[in-house]
Amino acid sequence: MTTPLEAAYEPDAFRATAHALMDQLADYLKAALGGGAMPVLPWVPPAVNQERFATPFPEVPSQEPSGLFAALMARVLEGSHHLHHPRYVGHQVTAPLPLAALCDAVSSLLNNGMAVYEMGPVATAMEHHVLAWMASTLGLPQSTRGVLTSGGSAGNLTALLAARQAKAGYDAWNGGAHAGPPLTVLVPRTAHYCLARAVRIMGWGEGGLTPVDVDAHFRVRPDALEGALEDATRKGRKAIAVVASAGSTATGAFDPLEPVADFADKHGLWFHVDGAHGAAASLSPKYRALVRGIERADSVVWDAHKGLLMPALVTAVLFRDGARSFDAFSQEASYLFHGDDARPYSDVGLRTLECTKEMMPLKVYACLSVLGTRVFEEAVTASYDQARRFAATLTAAPDFEVAVPPDCNIVCFRHTPAHVPESEWDALQARLREALVTRGNFYLVQTRLPRGVYLRTTLIHPLTRDADLDALLEALRGADQG
Ligand SMILES: *Cc1c(COP(=O)(O)O)cnc(C)c1O
Repeated sequence: MTTPLEAAYEPDAFRATAHALMDQLADYLKAALGGGAMPVLPWVPPAVNQERFATPFPEVPSQEPSGLFAALMARVLEGSHHLHHPRYVGHQVTAPLPLAALCDAVSSLLNNGMAVYEMGPVATAMEHHVLAWMASTLGLPQSTRGVLTSGGSAGNLTALLAARQAKAGYDAWNGGAHAGPPLTVLVPRTAHYCLARAVRIMGWGEGGLTPVDVDAHFRVRPDALEGALEDATRKGRKAIAVVASAGSTATGAFDPLEPVADFADKHGLWFHVDGAHGAAASLSPKYRALVRGIERADSVVWDAHKGLLMPALVTAVLFRDGARSFDAFSQEASYLFHGDDARPYSDVGLRTLECTKEMMPLKVYACLSVLGTRVFEEAVTASYDQARRFAATLTAAPDFEVAVPPDCNIVCFRHTPAHVPESEWDALQARLREALVTRGNFYLVQTRLPRGVYLRTTLIHPLTRDADLDALLEALRGADQG
């Protein structure tokens, strides 16, 4: 008789479950892509979901198998946020390529942890090639090396840790943050919050980040860099790096990279580009000028789960001087990394926060090689084009206004109907968003900009049509009436 544990590994039972699951997922995909009656987000208050999922998983799960996999997955599919719904226009999280999701299943089954070559021989090779492709797409030199890590937040921290080893003038990794003068990084005011976290994680406190002003388009002002540097120096901080966003989070604004690179050169600073969202612009012949100068960066972060249609998480951290890729985490763990030269490129754990990690490169490598690169190029170009058309529609409408003309696929706008006084516009945006999101007919987010609260859309689903966006505006108008 097989025990429940043996049965849990039984290949034929797995086959049957997997076939049934694939049918279930394909049906789900068809329904989600079709939009139709399916809500984008089947919104319920957190307590309701908590109650719903109290069975069959109460605080103490049953000791005996329930066997109810398909029924459980049906509930997961039904209650989750449907990113493949073409009216999902919210955060910068993509409707993943279905093929990539299959790769994740393979990665989970193989569980090749990748810290050292022996634990992920194929994935390690794939990671090398995926990174080389990304580097060459950005125009970085052949000396570029890097690593895939768990998200842009971890990626930016990794890059800044390496910048610190390169530029602090002392060994802060081993000696600690107080082994030399206090450090700081120049960062545009519009940068992602993870940079403010990174400097605090490194023990530099609030002053570890020196903000640089942005212009009316939310792009960093190159003429403000000198002043920011002087300000940091006056406060007793040694600036070691300057960061630019290739696609800021709130409005998708691309900082002008060339002048920031010139400034970094002039002062001997490390130049880091946070391209988590927008490094993918480099794939589009039409839009790659947005990232002109990125090839001069010392380090670049690029999220494949934003611009490359991948499921989360897979982020590239690239270093133009490949040897620098080891600087972020420079201590050794002798039980893992043997030998005198403990820095072989094939042991990816030397360069990441993670020890064990998923086979992150598999989905990128597989989709690139199976689907070809044109799919990705088209996705970028089409979504950036669509954002420009959407902004034009908004500008032409008497009762809508865009925050700024979009650089990429992020469009911030607000509803400004004549019958609502301007003093109530902020509250109106929040009310409208809540109405649409809780009804489930669209998913969009909101952001606070200097002029007030704006609705924020990321046109990240390649199959969102202009008609969906027209319907969004109609729904916003209607929500205001009722
Ligand atoms: C999304 C984003 C991040 C954070 O990336 P995660 O993968 O969500 O951790 C960092 N920087 C920018 C510019 C982003 O848009």
